[in-house]
Amino acid sequence: MNVVISVDMEGVCGVASWVQVSPPEFGGLVNAGEYERARIQMTREANAAALGAFEAGAEGVLIADSHETMRNLLPDYLDERVRFISGNDRPLSMVQGVQESGVAALLMVGYHARAGTQGAPLAHTWNGNVRDVRINGVQAGEPYLNALLAGHYGVPTVFVSGDDIAVRQVQDDLGADVVGVAVKEGLSMFSAVHLHPAEACRQIQAGARAAVQQAATARPFTVIFPASVQLSFDHQARADQAGRVPGVTRVDAVTVGYSSPDAYHLFQTFRMLCQVAQVRLDS
Ligand SMILES: [Zn+2]
Repeated sequence: MNVVISVDMEGVCGVASWVQVSPPEFGGLVNAGEYERARIQMTREANAAALGAFEAGAEGVLIADSHETMRNLLPDYLDERVRFISGNDRPLSMVQGVQESGVAALLMVGYHARAGTQGAPLAHTWNGNVRDVRINGVQAGEPYLNALLAGHYGVPTVFVSGDDIAVRQVQDDLGADVVGVAVKEGLSMFSAVHLHPAEACRQIQAGARAAVQQAATARPFTVIFPASVQLSFDHQARADQAGRVPGVTRVDAVTVGYSSPDAYHLFQTFRMLCQVAQVRLDS
């Protein structure tokens, strides 16, 4: 049995600010020291999940670095049995690897709540331009979209760690049998009460072990297809662009809609529209 671990950064223990998760190459509001510290904890949490998976009998563990540039993990700190994926612009983005044969489960580490969630640290969906995503009328964040894409390949999502609100959203959306580990309690968009980083890793390792032990009975996540998708942006100029893509309709000033026959089409269309909508607002 093989597993894929998708690792984001906003939901990692100790993180509560964009400053901590912004690689210095972006410029602007960055602090290299804080970023370097946060990527170490991100790596430790990914490794904790890998150790739990191995303890549960996984033979292959593939870790997908899935934040920003997707070059955050420090592989020297990872267990030597893992393989890892780094670098952006991947065919399946944050869940690259689930398409490989023999993958029995997806684990999500360091995940965060969807855009617009009150009290959830660094809540967002994909990039800062997306205000809301609805699939068949249900609000979807990154875990939902990624679980759906993994489900397209028959891979169930069995574990999530992050802030308490992100964990609750995943369990509400995917089912209570997804094992969740909250490494912090959200107080606001930019504050949280955290576990000790070492305790967070212990809980992630134990949770991942339990989740992978149950993977054989977990079901891949799916929705009713064809699915109706509505994507709302933070500015009408973005919807102007996205709404001109063939097959996409304009719903209201900031919202576009489309229909998808399967999760692969849904996910890739979502990505493309987010890309198209990245227009300059100061021109
Ligand atoms: Zn991220």
